Amino acid sequence: MPACTTQVEDSNAYVYDGQIHIPNQYSAGITGSKMLVTLRDKGKIIGTKCPSCDTVFVPARSVCHECFEQIKKFVPVSSMGTVETFTVCNEEHIAQPVGRPIYAVIKLDEADTSLVHMLGELEPEDLSIGMRVQAVFKDKKDRKASILDIRYFKPL
Ligand SMILES: [Zn+2]
Repeated sequence: MPACTTQVEDSNAYVYDGQIHIPNQYSAGITGSKMLVTLRDKGKIIGTKCPSCDTVFVPARSVCHECFEQIKKFVPVSSMGTVETFTVCNEEHIAQPVGRPIYAVIKLDEADTSLVHMLGELEPEDLSIGMRVQAVFKDKKDRKASILDIRYFKPL
């Protein structure tokens, strides 16, 4: 048996151990880039507003998924919002932005869609759906026009 396989305990099954390294890039586009640059330069969160149905998208989108209208209007939204759901990562992984993040789906005030980000300054036992949170931004000198210019959302 080659050295790269491992027998699954108490079975005749074998697995190949390995890693897949897949470098990739995903364009933020004009709309996403403007949102990220605003995060970096102003420490503010902006979304886009559909001219047809008035849906406010955060993260910013250039096309409404309901009306298929092109969206060009940017609108400021609050840095405060409500946790819609969450998950606690109990394992560290190289792909995680921090050791053991708590991820949440957060609907910002004045937005109609939600974004996924991390929660901080709380323990897993303090989590609840519906809890109010506020964005904590990195210091301006450390911002890179990344969604991680928001360090995390903290409880209010
Ligand atoms: Zn629309």
